[in-house]
Amino acid sequence: MNDSLLITNATILTVNPVDEVIHGGALLIEKGRIADIGPSDALEAKYAGVERLDATGHVLLPGLVNLHLHSGLIRGTAEDLPVFEWLTKYVDPKHRALTEDIAFDAARLSYTEALLSGTTCVMDMYRYMHKCADAAESLGLRATLAPYVVDKPGMDYFESLDKNVQLVLDRNKTANGRIQVWFALEHLTYCTEDAYRKAAAYAEKYDTGIHTHGEESIEMARRLQAQTGRWPVELFYDRGILGPRTVLAHCVWLQDSERELLARTGTAVAHCPVSNLKLASGIAPVKELLDLGVTVGIGTDGVKENNNLDMLEELKFVPLLQKARLLDATVIKAETALRMATIDGARALGLDGEIGSLEIGKKADLIAVDFRKHHLTPIIRGKYDNAVSNLVYAASGADVNHVFVDGKPLVLGRKLLTADAEEIRLSAQSAAERLFELREPFVPA
Ligand SMILES: [Zn+2]
Repeated sequence: MNDSLLITNATILTVNPVDEVIHGGALLIEKGRIADIGPSDALEAKYAGVERLDATGHVLLPGLVNLHLHSGLIRGTAEDLPVFEWLTKYVDPKHRALTEDIAFDAARLSYTEALLSGTTCVMDMYRYMHKCADAAESLGLRATLAPYVVDKPGMDYFESLDKNVQLVLDRNKTANGRIQVWFALEHLTYCTEDAYRKAAAYAEKYDTGIHTHGEESIEMARRLQAQTGRWPVELFYDRGILGPRTVLAHCVWLQDSERELLARTGTAVAHCPVSNLKLASGIAPVKELLDLGVTVGIGTDGVKENNNLDMLEELKFVPLLQKARLLDATVIKAETALRMATIDGARALGLDGEIGSLEIGKKADLIAVDFRKHHLTPIIRGKYDNAVSNLVYAASGADVNHVFVDGKPLVLGRKLLTADAEEIRLSAQSAAERLFELREPFVPA
């Protein structure tokens, strides 16, 4: 394809400030950006010579932003365990065994799964992340890389802050700006106070962000409070990492003081509803955080805790959980959930000026979901318009047909264009088999 493409006859969910929906709409991509948007008949007349992609029956929307995931290969193999038993028994030994070649295959698998289900932008917390950068660069998606840094004694098989600095120097803002590198810390129980202070100083020095796990377990939050006199978000505040360029994953259990700190400092939250359900962590107070003005995006977490990276599936849980928790069907409308998965996630990553909505001038990161399916019928316009509701409650990643990043088609008709998807799957299969063999000596009896 050349530099310009006119996508025609789509229902366009712009996710602009007034959540405008354009039926029978068209969108012009020029040099990687959205150059025009409006009624299809008008744009077709205006850009008569431009190459076209007919999107009849499709809903066009901003690419989804997965605000918290871990690339990985142990999907479905460590199930039905409490979070800390699961971590120490299976996840930490996996980190011991991981090699950079296996990490590369894991990242390629995870990013392929993400792209094929409509995610164009990920925040990945993983290891050997120069390999993740290679994977993201060749596949074409947008990635914020956040290496698992741990500095507690005896855990040097994780990443170090020095390596994180090197990754920032080598790969931050590379691949035409598609790759950014943040500082990242695993968890309060894995990292010293010093690590947080240093990460905060480095993030300032290198003009980048910070990602870490907020608390998911009430027991751990209580234990930390008993040990230190401070709740987890208060500890983050004391250690200097809260601010508009920090994203905390989970934040399931928050005292009022912690909610206020998040709001006051402009810290964003990556809400991971399926992971929180599966690990029996609880339900985050998303409605209350939104009411306080906190930016809340959505993450799948990894395949070891989800077990997929399907953001459209994830999206459905967000309003459902809040409605059930508060016994109030009016909270978190489908439009709000869609904003969380697009523009709010982009804002958390500092990218909302460039992506997250379909508006003239923004980068053309967008997806087309095929609504010509039994489970997405009928398509109703006007007074009973159901495009957003059906996207959030009825669609899944398998309905995503086309995916563009920077105006470049990465997936067309569900076919990955930037790599051999089957080769990636087969490589991941053998990498996983190697990983299990290497991990076995570290798994406690
Ligand atoms: Zn996580």
